[in-house]
Amino acid sequence: MWHPAHSPVSARITHVTTLATALAAEPRTIRAGAYQRISFDKAGDGHGVANQLADQVRTAEARGQEIVLTESDNDISALTGKHRPGYERIMAAAARGEIDVILVYQTSRFWRNRRERAEGIEILRRAGVSLIATKGPSLDMSSAYGRMMCGLLGEFDTAESEIKSERQQLANREAAMAGKARKATPRPFGWRPDRIARDPAEAAAVADACRALLAGGTLAGIAREWDRRGLRPHQAPFGPLPRRAWKSVSVTEILRNPRVAGISMYKGAEVGRGEWETIVPEETWRAVVRLLADPSRGSTAGVRTMLGGVALCRCGNHISASVSQRGEPVYRCNRETQRGRPGPHVAARRADVDEAIGGLVVARLSMADAADLMAPAAKADTAALRDEAMGIRDRLGRLGSLFALGQIEEADMIGGRQKGNVRLAEIEAGLADLGRESVLAPLVGAKNVKAAWEVLGDDRRRAVVDALMTVTLNPAGRGARVFDALKVISVEWKEV
Ligand SMILES: [Zn+2]
Repeated sequence: MWHPAHSPVSARITHVTTLATALAAEPRTIRAGAYQRISFDKAGDGHGVANQLADQVRTAEARGQEIVLTESDNDISALTGKHRPGYERIMAAAARGEIDVILVYQTSRFWRNRRERAEGIEILRRAGVSLIATKGPSLDMSSAYGRMMCGLLGEFDTAESEIKSERQQLANREAAMAGKARKATPRPFGWRPDRIARDPAEAAAVADACRALLAGGTLAGIAREWDRRGLRPHQAPFGPLPRRAWKSVSVTEILRNPRVAGISMYKGAEVGRGEWETIVPEETWRAVVRLLADPSRGSTAGVRTMLGGVALCRCGNHISASVSQRGEPVYRCNRETQRGRPGPHVAARRADVDEAIGGLVVARLSMADAADLMAPAAKADTAALRDEAMGIRDRLGRLGSLFALGQIEEADMIGGRQKGNVRLAEIEAGLADLGRESVLAPLVGAKNVKAAWEVLGDDRRRAVVDALMTVTLNPAGRGARVFDALKVISVEWKEV
């Protein structure tokens, strides 16, 4: 390894080709590596590869250099840490001593961040390779001055990028707090391309899905319904729709988005009320989110009957759907969860029990006071709760700024944040409770409750039954031939 301390001056001149020696018209041709970067960034080079190379060829000719290596990279942005094979090849060539100078468009944009720059300067220093810019200064990397200039110029560039990025983040946060619709993201499902006005078909689908879910519907059922309506998921932006275009997970993602309830988000936090048209009221949305987060949902996902997993055997165990020895669908005390409870345990024909329970539900919801089951008194609170929540979110958003400005102490900020979050959690739970009422909405609001009940699927019927009553089934007794509803079914109405 060559080291300046042990080498004669002549050796140093032949081994280290510096910018100074290049300008001093050395007899040997100076070997140049030309590097171009295409940037799609608007504030970037603004300069195609061909133009950059043409500039570099002119520069090389003017300086008596020969371009022996040309490399380029396709770079999306100076801030992304993407792999740059062209850059790596030209740096490797420099390290191996195959080139004497590197021609670039701008020295400050050759490296994308501090770390890359520090490493690059070190490689070029050791190899004695200079950096020559067609636009900007040329830097002799073998001199401390050249390296310092390179480092400083690069620092300015990094600082500029960082300040730009900080400003952008601040602007994004303020826009989110003011409830501005974000335009840079893909069009959200449910809105027109302006991201403000509702898309009639999609918004209706989202609202119907929330209602269906709260009324006991399943995600798979919603996905099938959206397929039936010919709605288009983001995963299939154009072309013929696949047969089962909608998956439960895509439906979930859409329903969980706070935008649906007009809530503006920034980095995962609710920060304001959106300027766009909302699809469902906040309480409905919160109830949907809570339902989707409920881990017990998973256990009933496979239940396809009206009372399976909901009604109880007289022994206190849950009943499940089964088939009798004669091949008839029955409800039976679930043997797997009986755990030695004393019998006798129930086994009853599903058709009989479902019909009787359906009659009870229809009768109850046809009564004059059925609307009271919806707890209308609570409705008035909804708006007040929503306003209070918005106020708290707004104040929480400003706490950080007040602390940063030195207007409040850190302890006050932390304490305030905790109190605010506790109250927010209470309000959100309250709103979700109010939203849950809509399990009964399609029936209570119906002119003909019986007809409305008959079109409901078993999963939605199950949710209605669960909201209204606790059903216990008793064994019919040995030899019972005729179904005796009064004997088999006991109902305890729930306080609503
Ligand atoms: Zn039992």
